[in-house]
Amino acid sequence: MAENTDQTGTGDNLSCFIQDTVLSLQENVRCEKAVKLQKAVAACINFFLVEVTKEEPMFKSAELIQVGSFAEGTKILEPDEFDFLVVIDELSKPGAVAIDNDLENVRGHTHLPHSGYVTLVVADDNLKTKWERYCENGLLQCFQNSIDRARFGSIFIEVIRKLYTERVLLKKADAVVTCSSTEIDFLNFGMGMPAVNDIGLNLRRVEFKTPNVLIDFELDGMKIGVDLSPAIRYHRITDCFRPEDCAGVALSDAILNRESLLLVANRNFDFRVTVTEAEVGYIQHIMKHEHKVIYIFLKYVNYSFTTNTWKWQPYSSYMLKNICLRHDLNCQHETRTITFCFKDVLEDMNACCSKLEITSAVKEVGYLVTRVNSN
Ligand SMILES: [Zn+2]
Repeated sequence: MAENTDQTGTGDNLSCFIQDTVLSLQENVRCEKAVKLQKAVAACINFFLVEVTKEEPMFKSAELIQVGSFAEGTKILEPDEFDFLVVIDELSKPGAVAIDNDLENVRGHTHLPHSGYVTLVVADDNLKTKWERYCENGLLQCFQNSIDRARFGSIFIEVIRKLYTERVLLKKADAVVTCSSTEIDFLNFGMGMPAVNDIGLNLRRVEFKTPNVLIDFELDGMKIGVDLSPAIRYHRITDCFRPEDCAGVALSDAILNRESLLLVANRNFDFRVTVTEAEVGYIQHIMKHEHKVIYIFLKYVNYSFTTNTWKWQPYSSYMLKNICLRHDLNCQHETRTITFCFKDVLEDMNACCSKLEITSAVKEVGYLVTRVNSN
């Protein structure tokens, strides 16, 4: 690989090629239209969340947090995927819940002692009775479906079913709809959402896939997928995160400076510890430009080799992100170029493939290694 470079250290052929490719890959996601679309999607979700609160006040949300590649600024091609976390207000106040990894309580129902997950108890005495029906053995269950209790996702579906029924009464709507407790499918025309900044999204499908809610909108023939997960804000960061386990001080400082992290509902009693807000902020504002460009370029290479039949990706996006983050935290190049750093990142990827494992840039509670996507 040629390592020649010009005076600025950025202008060799490969660096220019990668930089230009990334610019064109992001043309449609880093523009005013994409930002307007993102705002319209967030407005629709907030509109639904208000209705969810009317149906079940315990699921009142404190925040809707955008995460994922659009939030990071690493999305490629089209603004067609948005990921959000819904922070459950009442359980996210300081002291509301506490981590309790008592293996006796959760035997057979949990990922524990595999790490990255925690189990929770309601700690605030004023909330214990109120949330009792969402607990078993004293442990808080995630927000999945249950025969005898309404859950976050099923209420979401119910709310949309009601909105649709009201529309039918008001306007004799023209859509054919199939509806169950876990999904609603607008088979023909979809349900038109109120326009936000002249963007009128069409709701096509909502599915409750424990514990996430998956929503499909459509705009001018483009399918837009939204992934929504309930989460709890947790204020005792060092219960789940040790700065010394982080791949670099710049990232651990970004995590500690946030003063809280998020516990995302998974299955049964497992909540996944995530520092995604700090990570998104780091990638947006602190990660060196060259490394971010390499990360985006690798995402595209990965996408290009993804098979449509099986939706199989050669590398998990988790692996690409972690390798690029680790490189950013430890990059030793004084005269940094995309080419120099790209070569290092490829060597890191090669090493991960040889070992069939990748060490995470951030190790949450006892996190050790994650297997490379080897299926
Ligand atoms: Zn570098």
